[in-house]
Amino acid sequence: MITKAKERLSIGGLLDSSRKLFQKMSAGSIKTKRTNSITLSDCLMSALAMFNLKFPSLLQFDTYSQDDEIIKHNLKSLFGIEQIPSDTYMRDRLDNVDPQEIRKVFKSIFADVQRAGLLQEFQFIDGYYLLSCDATGFFSSNDVYCDSCCVKEHRNGTKEYYHQVLCGALVHPNKKQVIPFPPEPIKKIDGASKNDCEFNATK
Ligand SMILES: [Zn+2]
Repeated sequence: MITKAKERLSIGGLLDSSRKLFQKMSAGSIKTKRTNSITLSDCLMSALAMFNLKFPSLLQFDTYSQDDEIIKHNLKSLFGIEQIPSDTYMRDRLDNVDPQEIRKVFKSIFADVQRAGLLQEFQFIDGYYLLSCDATGFFSSNDVYCDSCCVKEHRNGTKEYYHQVLCGALVHPNKKQVIPFPPEPIKKIDGASKNDCEFNATK
């Protein structure tokens, strides 16, 4: 059981278990009208590949995944993607995914880390762990907003609506690897000041 869990934590194993969980996910309430649609797991794996291969933008991923033969080959063989979506198609499909569903992948990998007995190695002092966290913004607008938007009121009277997530990972000073936790959205109810909202999202 320990060896199996360790196998699943190799890069091939991690990608494989992510893809299997993505294949079980539902695409949200809005169904696509296209008949020959690309599977949701292909869209999610493409997004994962975009970050894993460190593409600076969706557009660049789009260009390389269509034109570069080596990238195309890796996306198929390593990431198991059958059809590579365009950047707009990927956006459309991923917009309908409930972020809660993505948590399952983090939880499953975390369970494998526990099963493989690797979690103890991250203990820092007296059985305590170090969780390094920071908030990052991913949306900001002066006129587009929703009910969950955080709001900043500027001195000149304009309002800025924004969304942030808190990202955290278990770290250890002697280890190169980190164990990331699922990102937690910072909501309006978490508080108005930077410290309040980050503290509440951490809880
Ligand atoms: Zn919003």
